[in-house]
This record gives sequence, structure tokens and C-alpha cells, in this order.
Amino acid sequence: MQTQITCPNCGTPYVADIYQVVDVGRQPQLKELLLSGQLNVAVCPNCGAGGRVATPLLYHDPAHDLFMVHVPQEMNLDQRRREELIGRLVQQVVNQTPMERRRGYMLQPQTMLTMQSFMEKVWGTEGVTPEMLARQQRQVELLRTLATASPDVQEYLIKERSREIDETLFAILRAQIEATSQMGDPNQVVGLLNLQAKLMTQTDVGRRLEKQQIALHALNRDAQKAGGLSPAILLKHIIANVEDEALLNAVALTGRGALNYEFFSLLTTEIDKREKAKDTAGAARLSRARDQLLAMQKEMQEATQQVLQEAQATLDDIMTAADTEEGVAANMGRIDDAFMHVLEARMIHAEQSGRRDEVEKLRHIQEMIIAQIQGETPPEVQLLTQLVSAGSKEERDQLMAAVPDLVSPQLVEIVEMLLDQATTQGQADLAARLGEVRSELDAKLLAQ
Ligand SMILES: [Zn+2]
Repeated sequence: MQTQITCPNCGTPYVADIYQVVDVGRQPQLKELLLSGQLNVAVCPNCGAGGRVATPLLYHDPAHDLFMVHVPQEMNLDQRRREELIGRLVQQVVNQTPMERRRGYMLQPQTMLTMQSFMEKVWGTEGVTPEMLARQQRQVELLRTLATASPDVQEYLIKERSREIDETLFAILRAQIEATSQMGDPNQVVGLLNLQAKLMTQTDVGRRLEKQQIALHALNRDAQKAGGLSPAILLKHIIANVEDEALLNAVALTGRGALNYEFFSLLTTEIDKREKAKDTAGAARLSRARDQLLAMQKEMQEATQQVLQEAQATLDDIMTAADTEEGVAANMGRIDDAFMHVLEARMIHAEQSGRRDEVEKLRHIQEMIIAQIQGETPPEVQLLTQLVSAGSKEERDQLMAAVPDLVSPQLVEIVEMLLDQATTQGQADLAARLGEVRSELDAKLLAQ
């Protein structure tokens, strides 16, 4: 719900999206926002002040029979007004639920006195216990202490609290580095990067993650050199990492684009070769790897199938909405690449069957989504999209000259990331264009 807010800091009125009802059966993306702490957060466009907005929140998760409500103390409502408010929200959920899905528990939501107990329940449906949450909180605090501690204290803490330094801690640290570099405090970023490097070399988990990064980097480098990832290149790296199950998995996951029929027949040839050479141990190791990879491929195919089915369902929702624009707005959180593919496929099908009205409607939906996404795209990505589709170096020079502030080392980083991605996914053409853009950017930055 678009809600008018007056900034408590500078008095500027502005509009924010505030939800009082989260029904994850209908809008699963709201659960992600809630868990990542981004639901009902308002930030003043004028002075940047903001945070979580105090609002009542009714939560419904039909898959877990969870129906609960939290009304913040600071709203200062008396008993009668609280009950009226809750009753109104409950009514809203009930009205939106088809008759056959209404349940007895929907008459009376469970009241959560604090937002913390409310969130613990939501995390519980994800299999995350309060103990796990508390552990994560301690890891965040440990990182905060480490980031500002002197080298001696750092070393002491790394030994003393080694049991808390696990992959989750590294993931939190990576997220912090990313967030800090976006806010543009270079000193802080350097400090966090140094801490990361230290943790990488001084802890078991860190050394394992580093090994993994090296293995993946080698894969990406070979793929880039060859202008794309081929089954043969993937196989070479699978064989190189066959002794270490975790590395094998990481390599296969990164190179999953090449995990196809050709790959498996090459792998079988390798196994036969070892059998002929009486290398029984080697053949057995590769056979085990093949079983593991086949299972992984099957799992991924099933996941793809599910993603496509979900995209179909989203498109059906939008197509049958009374108001198409509202349908698109309500489903924006569910729109991804898979959805766009499904949309495109249905448009082609409708065109071939001569269903003009349907084609028009689908095209209208596509246009609305593209407009919405472009509005949300960061300026760096918009620039890159233009650079990659530009026809000549002159055109790219002009594009870059128009936005000199965007031509920065950060932009080079984004290009490298996309380049890695394009190479691994076998998009040779895109990779070549990105390579051109990168060398031109490098030249510009050197000249500055
Ligand atoms: Zn303000």
C-alpha cells in the first residue's frame, strides 16, 4: 500500500510502500523482503533518514498454518482500537482467500508482543532456529570487533573464536564488503578486504574457500581463453578436482552450462581409457564423480522445470487480473529471466495461432515490465547495456563522455563480473563485446 510519510528528521513528505498484510501464499516475495529486513522500510529522499516504519503487521503462511499479528507498542492503541484494527486486517486476508482454502485458524491470529518473537516464527518456517539466529548475531558482532581491532587483538580473536568462523561468517563479510563499496567509503572497504584476506589464510574454512576460488578462477580463465566454456574444458577441470568432493561440486555448479550429453560421453570415454590401462582406482574415482554429476544434473533439471511452472503461473495471474497494470505491479517480485522467456514463448505461440488480442495484451505486459525494470536499474548497468549494444568505438566514446562520473574502477569491476558470467555461460559474442568495453575503459581510466 502506498503510504504518505512525513520525515521525522526534516519534515519532507514522501510516499513509501507499506504492507500491513503479508500473505506469503499470495505474495511469496514479501517473505524474502521481510527476512532481509527490507519490508516496511522507508528512507527520506531528501535527507536519507529512515528505518523500519512502525505499522501493524498480519502474517499468513498457509503452508505452515501460521497466522499471527504484531502491533507495535509505540502506536499507543487502546484495547478496543487494537481489536478493530486486527479485525480489519484479518477480514482482508479472509476476503482474499478462496472459500475452499479458508481455515479455522484464520478466525484468530496469534498475537506476537515483540517483533523479535514475530521474526523468530518466520525464520522457523525456513528451518532457522532462534539458536542459529543468535549465533549469526554473534558473528556479526565478531566481525564488527575484528574490523576495528589492532593486528594483535585480531590474531587472538581469530584463534579464540575459531569455531564461529565458518562459511556463514564469510558470507556475512562478503555482503558487508559489497554494501560498503556501494556506499563508497574506500577506507572501510580496504579494511574489510584486508580482514577477509587475513581470515582466508589463517583459518581452515578460509583456506578451503581460497582453494575453491583458485579452482573456479582457473576454470573461468580457460573458458575465457577459449571464447566460452565447452564440455571438454569443464571435463579437464572436473578431472583436476576429482579428489575433493567440495571442489568438484563447486566446479560443476559454476560450469553447469556445459554439463550436457557431450560432457557425459567425454567423461565415459575417460573412464574407459583408465579401465583399458588397468587404472582401476582412477576409473572408480571418475565413475563416482559421474554418478554425483548425473544426480546434480537431474536435480537442476527438476529445479528448472519448477521455475518454468512458477513463471507460467505468474503469467496466468497477470493475464487473468481484472486490471493488467495492477496485476503486473502485484507480481513484480516474481518476475525474472524465466518469466520473460515464458512470456516471449507465449507471445510467439499466440502470434502463430493468429490470436491478435492475446499478442497485444502480452506485448503490453512486456512493455510495462521493461519500463518498470529500467526505472530500477542502476545507472552503471544502464550505461553498460548501451555500451554493449553500441555499433562502434565512436559511439561508445560518446556514451562514456556523456557520463564521466560513471567511468570509474567500480564500472570495470562490474564489467569483469559480467565477463566472467558471459564466458561461463558460453555467450561468446557478449563476452567479446564486454572485453572491448573493458579495454576501452582501462584506457580512459589510465588517461585520467
Ligand atoms: Zn528527511
